[in-house]
Amino acid sequence: MNHLPIAIIGGDLRYVRLCQLLIDKGHNVYVYGISHPDIPVQATICSSLEDVKSCKYIIAPIPFSKDNNTLFTPLSNVSISIEQFFLAANNSFILLGALSNNLKLQFKKRNIQYKDLMDMDETAILNAIPTAEGAIQYAMQNSEITLHDSECLVLGFGRCGKILAHKLYGLGAKVSVEARSSKDLAFISTYGYNPIPLKDLKDYLDKYHFIFNTIPAIVLDIEAIRKISQDTLYIELASAPGGIDPCAAKTLGVNYIPAPSLPGKVAPKSAAKIIYHCFSLILHDMGEFL
Ligand code: NAP
Repeated sequence: MNHLPIAIIGGDLRYVRLCQLLIDKGHNVYVYGISHPDIPVQATICSSLEDVKSCKYIIAPIPFSKDNNTLFTPLSNVSISIEQFFLAANNSFILLGALSNNLKLQFKKRNIQYKDLMDMDETAILNAIPTAEGAIQYAMQNSEITLHDSECLVLGFGRCGKILAHKLYGLGAKVSVEARSSKDLAFISTYGYNPIPLKDLKDYLDKYHFIFNTIPAIVLDIEAIRKISQDTLYIELASAPGGIDPCAAKTLGVNYIPAPSLPGKVAPKSAAKIIYHCFSLILHDMGEFL
């Protein structure tokens, strides 16, 4: 077996579980920017970014950064500036996620090799499972009714929208799905869901117990928000800006539940396996085996 030197820098509970997976496979794992009791004793805890310079592979956070200045390190008090990271990482291959366009340019400018896991269909599709389960968990926790027999609207029919609609349908919900393409609308009715074209969305908004948004673009303006019943639970799954302006939604009495980063929160072990699987696909393409 290949014993690769792999650094894990920052990240959430998924990365603690990933660390264990990599150790179990015999790799030499270096950790920086995570402090957690479950980090295996076999991992090398680094005291500075200098210590990871020799690692051929670096697994950086998903999302890489939330503020475009520092890495996402929710499990540590250490603040790692992106500039510092660039200096330490310029000879390594970086695995990361959800890189902004601006940061993509900076990686390119510095000739640092990287792969954004969120650009891979394999990751996004597999991640849609814990995301959908998490969305359902949030819906159950925040309502007094069953999903069975409830009116559910899923906004968007991409990777998350498809899996979520499928799971809601399996629970006995009455599922409507919004899409803008006629092909998606045809698939939506073929699966037995109620198809809602984006252009007609406003006409339907008053009847749902749950609205799950997977569209990362404002599709519900003030006029649309006013149509949503105060009994409706709106669960925001999409990344910024989301489908609705949260301030306007709250001001107008919408029961708004933000639900970011669900895989890491509701199923960190499963999410770690997904990252491991996708990392092994990337390494395979590079002629290396995990
Ligand atoms: P996706 O496969 O790209 O699907 C996005 C959907 O949004 C598609 O149906 C797309 O329609 C629609 N859409 C995009 N822009 C639109 C616009 N301007 N107007 C109307 N519809 C628009 O993405 P995904 O993998 O399902 O992910 C969806 C979102 O959830 C992303 O923001 C992602 O970052 C986020 N996410 C969140 C979590 C979490 O834990 N909360 C987990 C995973 C992903 P078309 O196909 O017609 O373009």
